[in-house]
Amino acid sequence: MPASVVKGGKAGFARHYVGGITGASKSQIQTLIQRKGLITAAAERPGPSPLDIPVTGRIAGVPWRDALDFNEAADLMRHLGTAAFIVCSYLTGMRPGEVLGMRTGCCPDPEPNAEGKVGRHVIRSHEFKTATDECGNHQSAGVEREVPWVAIAPVVHAIRVLERMVPGDALLFDHDAHDLHNLRSGTGSLKRSTIRDRIEDFVAWANAEAAARHLDSEVIPPDPRGKVGTERFRRSLAWHIARRPNGLVALAIQYGHMRTALASEGYASRSRGGIHELIDVETVRAVADTVADLHDDLEAGGGVSGPAARRAIKAAAAAPRFAGTVITATTARRLIANEDAMIFDNPHALLLCHHRRAQALCHRDGIKDTPSLDHCVPGCGNIVRTDQHARQLRDRAEVLDKRAVHTPQPVAERLRANATKLRSFADHHDRARITLQEAAE
Ligand code: SF4
Repeated sequence: MPASVVKGGKAGFARHYVGGITGASKSQIQTLIQRKGLITAAAERPGPSPLDIPVTGRIAGVPWRDALDFNEAADLMRHLGTAAFIVCSYLTGMRPGEVLGMRTGCCPDPEPNAEGKVGRHVIRSHEFKTATDECGNHQSAGVEREVPWVAIAPVVHAIRVLERMVPGDALLFDHDAHDLHNLRSGTGSLKRSTIRDRIEDFVAWANAEAAARHLDSEVIPPDPRGKVGTERFRRSLAWHIARRPNGLVALAIQYGHMRTALASEGYASRSRGGIHELIDVETVRAVADTVADLHDDLEAGGGVSGPAARRAIKAAAAAPRFAGTVITATTARRLIANEDAMIFDNPHALLLCHHRRAQALCHRDGIKDTPSLDHCVPGCGNIVRTDQHARQLRDRAEVLDKRAVHTPQPVAERLRANATKLRSFADHHDRARITLQEAAE
């Protein structure tokens, strides 16, 4: 018997569900309940209230539900709204208030230009923190951001989902549409405190789903710094763009697109205090870690090779320049402009990049102030390799050789050729490496 939880936590007849799927009126349902004794029947034999909605989502390759249940729909819609908020915050660099200020139609599909080329999706919306009038007074209603935010595919999908959840010409987080449980008066978006609570609920829900499927690796661990909140997404995005996480290739590509897209907004947009400043700060933090590691490595007798090896040794000797420096947007910009100081880790290419603009071979997409690590070109004059890179090159070569054994001939040959190339880089390092002492002689 289709049942819903009623007052006192008991199972009752799912009258709204049955009315919804049959089109019967309230009084017709009431008559039926009385005539057939459905309240008692539902309490004795409570069953699901499946919705006639195809289940297409999969978790670990398996449909995530047999059917969506009417009783779960409001909770799922709430989590869906939260997930859309997370995607938009995390992958655009917008501030929480700016995400909550988006309206339907803010991210139209781009029209092809005269040459038939279709550009990027962009979000036109309001910014609040830096909104001032011509006299410098803060405008609490916000102003439309002069430079739109770039939206990569997952963000566009999230916005399209939100547009289906709210009425036309409404805020995408309109509280009336998103507050199915706690209807409150007034207009406007969900509050930031509400979103903060919903993110915690979302984490709990996602963990329950993972636990139910024994997917321990998908469990979101408790955060030692407390609640996730709404502010951290921008900083995390900047962190990822600056450091390019190794291994998560799809994610790295996504962030790579973001860096390119953000950079194409132009250097001048930094002055508006956008995500660029955060990226600068995180870039310099990542460089500081890289330089400190290289410094320790050389002090311990390690060697470096590559056209920029001697420059890198000098830069590592000056590692203390980062120590104790509070990295603000201003110091970050100053350090990024100092070519002698900037050594970037490039774990994908297994090298360090002591970046000098004039020598960089990767500047195909117009980024001038930092290297395009995902377009690293072998033979560039900025390359530095350490003993650890040589070891990693040989490890990677071994993996490729093993993979080649189980791969059809043409692909296997390519894998073996790559392995040979990686070993030749490692051998070259062993022959050409210089240590701190040798560099000083
Ligand atoms: S090609 Fe590679 S080493 Fe050269 S500047 Fe670009 S990222 Fe650095």
